[in-house]
Amino acid sequence: MRTKNNFRKNPMFQNCPQCLKSNTLRKSHPRNWKEALADNLTFFKMYRCRECGWRGHLSTYNSSALSAKLILFYASVVIVVSYIVLTVLSKLVH
Ligand SMILES: [Zn+2]
Repeated sequence: MRTKNNFRKNPMFQNCPQCLKSNTLRKSHPRNWKEALADNLTFFKMYRCRECGWRGHLSTYNSSALSAKLILFYASVVIVVSYIVLTVLSKLVH
C-alpha cells in the first residue's frame, strides 16, 4: 500500500531549466491576463529564477494524466457550484 502522497510536486525544489541551479526558483506573480489565466485554470504556475532571471510555467503535478483527471474533477465541481448558485439566485429573485 502506498501511504505517501507522491503525485504532488513543488517546482521550487526543481532545478532551473535555464541555468540548472537548484533552489533558485520562486513563485512569480502573473504579469498579464494570459499568465493569470494559466495560473488560475491549470496546474502550471508561474515561476522565476533568482539567479538568471528565467521566467516560465512549471507543472505542480508529476503526471499529466492525473492533471487531466483533476481538471475534470474541478470542472465538475465548478458546474455543481454554479448550478447551486443559480438555483439560490432564482429563488431570491422570485
Ligand atoms: Zn536560472
